[in-house]
Amino acid sequence: METLLVVGAGPKAMSVAAKARVLRELGLPAPRVVVVESHAVGGNWLPSGGWTDGQHRLGTGPEKDVGFPYHSTWARGYNRAIDQAMIAYSWASFLVENGSYAEWVDRGRPNPHHHVWAEYLQWVARKAEVDLVTGTVRRIRPAADGWLVSVADGDGSVTEIDTDRLMITGPGHSGRALVDHPKVLSIAEFWDLAGKRRLPPSSRAAVIGGGETAGSAVDELMHHDVLTVSVISPAATIYTRGESYFENALFSDPAKWRALSLRERRDVIRRTDRGVFSVRVQENVLGDNRVHHLQGRVVRVAEQGDGVAVTLRNELRPDQAHVFDLVVDATGGQPLWFTELFDADAADLVELAVGGPITQARLETSIGHDLAVDGLDAKLYLPNLAGVAQGPGFPNLSCLGELSDRVLGGVSTRSMVGAGGGSGERRPGWPQTGPLG
Ligand SMILES: Cc1cc2nc3c(=O)[nH]c(=O)nc-3n(C[C@H](O)[C@H](O)[C@H](O)COP(=O)(O)OP(=O)(O)OC[C@H]3O[C@@H](n4cnc5c(N)ncnc54)[C@H](O)[C@@H]3O)c2cc1C
Repeated sequence: METLLVVGAGPKAMSVAAKARVLRELGLPAPRVVVVESHAVGGNWLPSGGWTDGQHRLGTGPEKDVGFPYHSTWARGYNRAIDQAMIAYSWASFLVENGSYAEWVDRGRPNPHHHVWAEYLQWVARKAEVDLVTGTVRRIRPAADGWLVSVADGDGSVTEIDTDRLMITGPGHSGRALVDHPKVLSIAEFWDLAGKRRLPPSSRAAVIGGGETAGSAVDELMHHDVLTVSVISPAATIYTRGESYFENALFSDPAKWRALSLRERRDVIRRTDRGVFSVRVQENVLGDNRVHHLQGRVVRVAEQGDGVAVTLRNELRPDQAHVFDLVVDATGGQPLWFTELFDADAADLVELAVGGPITQARLETSIGHDLAVDGLDAKLYLPNLAGVAQGPGFPNLSCLGELSDRVLGGVSTRSMVGAGGGSGERRPGWPQTGPLG
């Protein structure tokens, strides 16, 4: 049986692990899924994970769970069975099992707090009996027919796992700030202090960033004693996420995505995903005249008196400095964080596959239908970078069921080709087609 190692036990890992189990239960081939997690299942949704205090609410509905949209199309003769079996891992099943389904419905189906979403993911892990390795992935290097992944446990001892396929998830580090200064907080420091009600007193606060991470930080700051909150981003304004049926449908079902031009795809992502505040955060901000937007790219942060001066650059205007007594670096994740784990040989292989030095743009356009980098013999799945090439829902929570279909459908179909007796013949009744697209 092939092994698929997933870095990070977030929603993507849970979706793939639960679906692999369902496929096996239906007698279909699926790899053994091993999930390596440094912290806890759903760790980035817990206060200790450094991205939230756990008390903010999910922006997307929880029905967009590990099986959503429950519409497998690749396994002819088995698709409806897969969809039905995945319902056992749904948000509704979680609530039914812990006795709170009726209450959730009667309360108007509220989006859960982040820490409750983590509880749901932990429930999926238990129910699917996910093969979990506790440790931090430190290094990735190529093996003869896959990858060698070094994992350090809490004591610092390192084990090497040999895997056929590798999937990377998560946004990277939250502990970095623009500069090392007590009044400039990384997002991890911000949530740590906010959770302990120990944020430094501030009258003029600034949040750098215009996306979900910044939105949550602004939302939180409004509950503290501040005179002004300036949101700093390079865009002309703080955009609101488009959340109508038409936008949502493109996230749930990326079938139409590849028919759009690259310019149209980037336009959809700009309006709906990157650098936008959710409607809920915007509604909170709307009624609070302490919140303002400052346009510009931060080029310098320097101590000035009791505060810090932040210099903003805009193309058509001279640089401007603004003084704050608290600055939160909420610029969000680093999409290429995992490349730090590659040894020179792994980096060379990826560079060869993408046609030059590793950049976000090169990787984004090289992601194939199965959400892996095209042109690599050993599969490297990068769903967080699959938005442009495959669909805007793959990096987030919008179509986790489709994500696991793409990843496992490719694996299973390949295995099935050999399952007919080594002659390349396919077993009757098993999928006769490869993945879509
Ligand atoms: C505040 C906030 C709110 C958000 N709300 C929404 C929302 O409502 N809807 C939505 O669609 N998206 C939302 N997002 C985006 C969200 O991050 C992604 O949608 C989604 O969580 C990514 O899931 P994932 O499985 O890739 O990783 P994550 O849930 O981020 O999990 C990654 C895991 O990897 C682990 N890890 C990291 N490095 C290593 C390593 N070296 N070795 C081992 N393990 C490691 C971490 O501990 C973590 O548990 C939000 C993001 C933020 C910051």
